[in-house]
Amino acid sequence: MKFCYCPECKDLQPTAWYRRKVCKRCGGECRIISVPIYYYGMAMYALSAVGAFLVAAELFRYDLGLGDLRLYLMFGSLIAAMVFAAFESARAYDIARKRLGNDL
Ligand SMILES: [Zn+2]
Repeated sequence: MKFCYCPECKDLQPTAWYRRKVCKRCGGECRIISVPIYYYGMAMYALSAVGAFLVAAELFRYDLGLGDLRLYLMFGSLIAAMVFAAFESARAYDIARKRLGNDL
């Protein structure tokens, strides 16, 4: 995960890889802090993949032989992925903040 830290506004915001290194508030240049993903992030990707696969199977009416269980798995994996995504962002944010230390 990447964060953008703006020394001008002392603002720490998560940033996406496709976004430029520009502060959302003042347009100034920000410092990029990357935090490697952890188990939560990997769990999130794995669960989203499972969820996406189940949704795709549903859309193509491909019978996985799971019966109604597939619906529980579909929603369960997507909801769990969101929960893990929240954990991951909170953890990464914490690390990014600590790495900034006294700058904030
Ligand atoms: Zn700024």
